[in-house]
Amino acid sequence: MALEIKILDYGDIELESSFLVLARDCGRVRRVPVYGFLILGGQYPIVVDTGYRDNAIMETLGMRGLQFHENMIERQLANHGVKPGDVRYVLHTHLHIDHAGKDDHFPMNTTVVLNRRELECSVSGLMHPQYPKPDIQHLIERLHTRDALRLEDLELSGPVEIIPGVVMEAANAHTEGSMNVHVETAEGRATICGDVIYDFNDQIIEPIYQISDHEPQVTGNHAGSKRSEKAAIKKLLNSSRFLLPVHDKPALIEHGQVIGRLDMQIPGPVSQTVPKRNWFAV
Ligand SMILES: [Zn+2]
Repeated sequence: MALEIKILDYGDIELESSFLVLARDCGRVRRVPVYGFLILGGQYPIVVDTGYRDNAIMETLGMRGLQFHENMIERQLANHGVKPGDVRYVLHTHLHIDHAGKDDHFPMNTTVVLNRRELECSVSGLMHPQYPKPDIQHLIERLHTRDALRLEDLELSGPVEIIPGVVMEAANAHTEGSMNVHVETAEGRATICGDVIYDFNDQIIEPIYQISDHEPQVTGNHAGSKRSEKAAIKKLLNSSRFLLPVHDKPALIEHGQVIGRLDMQIPGPVSQTVPKRNWFAV
């Protein structure tokens, strides 16, 4: 059986537009989805990212959480017949507030998998409010519990395959320790790319404020250089057939360009299989 990716809908968030795409619509609010991903068809079910803890925690960043009952992680997994205890690994693209909020809903024998650099950053104070105390405290609890955590050093090791067909790779963008997760599907390589891309349209398809050919616009929220952000985006465009970020709907890629988007309602409830044939051209 080939690997499949199911999209989990953890609820939307509202935040300032230029936080997402640098210098875009300063002062205006945007509503974006927060997705997670369930990889099925392999040796074990794998979850990538767990969304935000609750609506209140988003207020600590001056953002608004719109998480409802149907967005609860148990409900989202149950849509696919999966319970938290069935999940062997929870992978994290990174540990920001909207990505690691529900790890404590999984038993300690579900192993959470992190790039060690990201765990270090989460306790460094460098991007303090984006790594909230309860989420990080839970991860430290796992650090001191046998087999509850798995740490990789992806910058040094290169890509690591966690089950056949699922490969983790350092993203070298967004945060110092972000990782991309590549999934070999029947229709080609799909890459879950976290927050390396926030907005396909305004960063890549019609990148705002850019006048050079093939020049992506960066996000408004990155820990490293603009050069590395742009290079990481180009690397993704040149190495995968499907790109799945956490705050925008998936894109279909050909010859380094976005040629289609998955036709699903966002913001709003989604429960779709990726890849599938319901794509529209851009
Ligand atoms: Zn995010």
